[in-house]
Amino acid sequence: MSLVFRQIIVCLWLVLAACVAQVRGAETSFTVKVVAGDAPHVEVRGEVETAIQKWVFASEYAGVTKLDERVDGLEFSTMADERATFRQTAPGRYETVTAANRIAYQVRLSSPRVTSDAAHVSWIDGVRGIVMLNDVLPQNLDGARVSFELPQGWKIYSSSFKTRLTTDVTTDEGREFRGGNRREVEDAVFAVGANLRVVNQASASGNVLCVIDGAWAFEDRDVTRAVKIMVDKHRGVMGSLPKERAALMLMPFVQSAPPQRWSAETRGTNILLMMGRGGSRVAGLAQLENVLAHETFHLWLPNNLNLQGDYAWFYEGFTLYRALRAGVETGALNFQDYLNAVARAVTIYEAAEARRGIKDSLIAASLARWRDADAAALVYSKAMVVACLYDLEVGWQSNGKRGLDDVFCLIAQRHDMGKPPVEANRAVIAVLDETYQSSEFTRRFITAATSDLKVEFARFGLQVVPSGTGIRLIVNPQLSKKQRRLLQRIGMR
Ligand SMILES: [Zn+2]
Repeated sequence: MSLVFRQIIVCLWLVLAACVAQVRGAETSFTVKVVAGDAPHVEVRGEVETAIQKWVFASEYAGVTKLDERVDGLEFSTMADERATFRQTAPGRYETVTAANRIAYQVRLSSPRVTSDAAHVSWIDGVRGIVMLNDVLPQNLDGARVSFELPQGWKIYSSSFKTRLTTDVTTDEGREFRGGNRREVEDAVFAVGANLRVVNQASASGNVLCVIDGAWAFEDRDVTRAVKIMVDKHRGVMGSLPKERAALMLMPFVQSAPPQRWSAETRGTNILLMMGRGGSRVAGLAQLENVLAHETFHLWLPNNLNLQGDYAWFYEGFTLYRALRAGVETGALNFQDYLNAVARAVTIYEAAEARRGIKDSLIAASLARWRDADAAALVYSKAMVVACLYDLEVGWQSNGKRGLDDVFCLIAQRHDMGKPPVEANRAVIAVLDETYQSSEFTRRFITAATSDLKVEFARFGLQVVPSGTGIRLIVNPQLSKKQRRLLQRIGMR
């Protein structure tokens, strides 16, 4: 199961049909009332100044389907409080006979049937929950004010609140969210609950609010320490923490599970991590550090980039590799862990390719990943191996002067949110080619479906040997000086 969980982690932007009229933001306001208990739900009321006829709810997100079926009791009315009759035109799509200004409905929010889905959609259980505006509000809101009503004694936390990040957001002012555009609204994520603990962790370039629920094998301060180490590490490559703020929401699965079982999503500036609480402190902490190395990088890539289109092969697979390097650099992992992780990725992607029987480029696999678990394995595992080869190649060429981090750094500078939107794959490949000083690498390994990556390791002093049903990577006992220097840069002693 842990493999499945690993592959489900996501960060994606939904690009919705452009034919739906956008709802003006300045006059749009909603109240979301959280109701816990046996039939947990939110009661939502909204008002838009300019009446509209077509209302759309998200029906699918990150492979979780039928989200629209959780919406119940819809009512539409005009400013004069006249009811507007409506019909459903497709799943999640409604059309009123006369344009309406007001909408009221409930969204049923029982915990998802598939445990790992809890990192991707809203849910509420007995004492805690997650509210994501993407699946609770209508889509295409070009901005909105949202105020929350909570059960007695519950609190709400999020880095989506514009008020200063503080551990005291119990006042009414602290409960109002203001999203200035569609992306801010659809990216907003809120942790709610009766027993949430919060610690505000300052990092070199901003604050990370750690929102923790439940008893864990590790201490709260272990969590804040791990967050700070990783955010500071990534900042060295990517620049300041976007918007100078972020939140980590750490919540347990409803069912008991080992720490190897986890599911996470970094949306906007909020990282939601659901994890099993079983096992030892050491195992739990190692898993936490491992996941955070990856998820915190998503605060920059892709969440702070103005790149459009699907390029998951890069922001997932290359991020996995970046997290691995960062783990070795911070001492959480050693060089043997590095070799083992790359070898495991080779084993996983080769098995996936064998099952698929078709050869796809990483770009094509990215497009297929929600309907094909083996395509997802390529997006994560094969792309991670390609990232590794790229890093080694560029290090080899430049005698250690350049590496994959130079690519991340250039992309962050050229395509952050302040820059105009551009097509993602073209932009990323341009930077990869520029840093490599040739398009040969991307033509072989990214836009084409080159299959056997194992043969590439030999020139860097790494041998591929069979191991069980997979492979192991071992260091050649006879290394050239250049090979030794390259591997030492990565952490070989
Ligand atoms: Zn990811």
